[in-house]
Order: sequence, then C-alpha cells, then structure tokens
Amino acid sequence: MKCALVTGGSRGIGRAICIKLAAMGYHVLINYKDNREAAEITLASLHEKGGDGEVLKFDVGNKEEVAEALGGWIAAHTENRIEVLVNNAGIKEDVLLMWMKDEQWNNVINTSLNGFFYVTKLVLQDMLMQKYGRIINIVSLSGLKGLPGQTNYSAAKGGVIAATKALAQEVGRRNITVNAIAPGFIKTDMTEGLDEKQLRSLIPVSRFGEPEEVAHAVGFFASAESSYITGEVLSINGGMYS
Ligand code: NAP
Repeated sequence: MKCALVTGGSRGIGRAICIKLAAMGYHVLINYKDNREAAEITLASLHEKGGDGEVLKFDVGNKEEVAEALGGWIAAHTENRIEVLVNNAGIKEDVLLMWMKDEQWNNVINTSLNGFFYVTKLVLQDMLMQKYGRIINIVSLSGLKGLPGQTNYSAAKGGVIAATKALAQEVGRRNITVNAIAPGFIKTDMTEGLDEKQLRSLIPVSRFGEPEEVAHAVGFFASAESSYITGEVLSINGGMYS
C-alpha cells in the first residue's frame, strides 16, 4: 500500500491536501494534535470520494510522541511505504517582538521547525531505502518576506524554507524531491479573524485563496512527473509577492 502522511490533516489546508492525495490513490495518514472530531470529518470526506486513509494523533513538536505514534505506525506496517510527506502542521501566535513571551516564540518555532525535523527524519529513512519520495513543506509568504507581528512565525517558516533547500541537495540522488509551498491568505480557521474586504486591496487577484488551490499544487509536487523539480518554493498568494 502506498501511503501519504499529512501533518495537521484535520482542518483547513491539511484537510484539502488529504482529499487531493486520496484522489491520487494514496492511503492517507491524517495527523492531528487535539481535534479528533475534525480528523474524522477529513477521513469521512476521503471515504465519500472513494478514497482511503486513517487518523493518527501526535504533536509534531513533541519528539517522544512522534517517535511513539509515527515510529510505532512505521514499525507495525513494514509492508507499507510512506511515499509522500506533507509537513503542513503549523500555528501562529502573533505579537510584536517587543511584547513576545518566550512561550510564544518557542511554541511557533517548535511546531513548524522542530516538527519538520522530527517527522521528516523518521519518514526519510524508508524513502532513502526505497530510493523514492516526495516531501512537501507548507511554509508562508511570511517566511519569504517577513511580516510585522510575526517574527516567530517568519523565523519558523524561513527556517523550513532553508531546510527545504538543504535537504533537497542531500537526497536528490535518491530520487527524493523536497519542495515548499508558500501560501498567502487562505480561507481557514487560521485567517478567520482577518478582514478579507479590507485586506483584498493588497492582493492582485482581490480575494483570499481556497485550501483546494494549495492542495492542487501539493498534488503537482507529489506526482512522479515532477521529479526534476526540487529545492523550490512556490508562492500561492494571488500575486502578492514578487
Ligand atoms: P488551521 O486551519 O489552523 O489548521 C492547523 C492544523 O495543524 C490543524 O489540523 C491542527 O490540528 C494542526 N496542528 C497544529 N499544531 C499541531 C501540532 N503541534 N501537531 C500536529 N498537528 C498540529 O491552519 P491552516 O490555515 O490550514 O494552515 C496549515 C498550514 O499552512 C500551516 O503550516 C500554516 O502556517 C500554513 N499557512 C496558512 C496560511 C493561511 O492563510 N491559512 C497562510 C500561509 C501558511 P488540530 O485540528 O488537532 O488542532
């Protein structure tokens, strides 16, 4: 069985990615941290569309939990292969650096940057043995240009962008590609409090994006046909960044 792991697959962009990868024929491991009900809704959506998957709870930023839950799954399913890894789980805790608490810095860095490390290191071992893999990291416009009030989030996403480029060079010979997708404003719980009417003047296409528009690009990077593209960062932001 060919599998795809999507961290933070319970809601938002992650849910749309799970649906996309299931439609491509993958058995999808839908990771979540707290929200089992939402993860089950993602799973039900896959089933409705004729796809398949399962839910897997772990905190990407907790090394022991990742080792126990994900390492345990890998050890118990030696006949299955995780061919596609989407590092999507992320949080934001926006505040000016002047007022930022240690906890707010650490939480955001730990989820995006350390989470990338803990999960990718585990999944990569089998990809290296199989000489095939697709790793796609969901980063952000904030990690490319930096945004005020998001020093922690910009640092975390910028770190993952640099890690994407470095890892791509380490594993290219093994037919493993590593790419990043940098969304702008996408309609999810993360952007719920933002005023789209006010912000759309900043966006050339004049609207927030849909999670499915990000998932479409993930499907492209996850495909076997994208094998000559690695270490890239694709912006999906309605033309905001140049
Ligand atoms: P969201 O709607 O807030 O969903 C976040 C997802 O991440 C949920 O599935 C959540 O699981 C999971 N998650 C959070 N912390 C986790 C942890 N420690 N371990 C495992 N799972 C964890 O967010 P979203 O808007 O879909 O964002 C998805 C990714 O895109 C994030 O990396 C975000 O930074 C990035 N992004 C989003 C936007 C945007 O405009 N929405 C723009 C640029 C980049 P639970 O359901 O269990 O809480």
